[in-house]
Amino acid sequence: MLRIECPCCGLRDHDEFRYGGDASVTRPGHDDPDPEAWYRYVYVRANPAGLHREFWQHVIGCRQWLMVERDTRNHAIASVAFARKAPAKKSFTQTSLAQKSLTKKSPVRKSTA
Ligand SMILES: [Zn+2]
Repeated sequence: MLRIECPCCGLRDHDEFRYGGDASVTRPGHDDPDPEAWYRYVYVRANPAGLHREFWQHVIGCRQWLMVERDTRNHAIASVAFARKAPAKKSFTQTSLAQKSLTKKSPVRKSTA
C-alpha cells in the first residue's frame, strides 16, 4: 500500500492524494519557439525503474502540492517536501505600516480665495 507522509497532515493513504505528474520535467521558456522542446515537455517521459520525482496534491487534506521521491519498483517513498517553497518573510509589520501612515505628510491644499 502506498502511503505518503504529508508535511502538514502526517502519514496518509494515497487515496487522499492526486498524482500531478513527473516533477523532473522542465518547462521550456515562455517564448521558446522550438516545437521539439514543447513536444518533449508535453509528451516524452522517461518511465524509470527506480527513484522518480513526482508531484502529488493532497486533495482530501491540506490541498498542498508536494514533491515526492518514490521508487517505482516498490513504491518506497524516499522524501516528501512542499512543491513550492514558502515566500520569503518580509520585514514589514503592522506596526511599521501604522507608523508610516502617521508620519506620511498629506498634501496641503492651498486655498485660492
Ligand atoms: Zn496534507
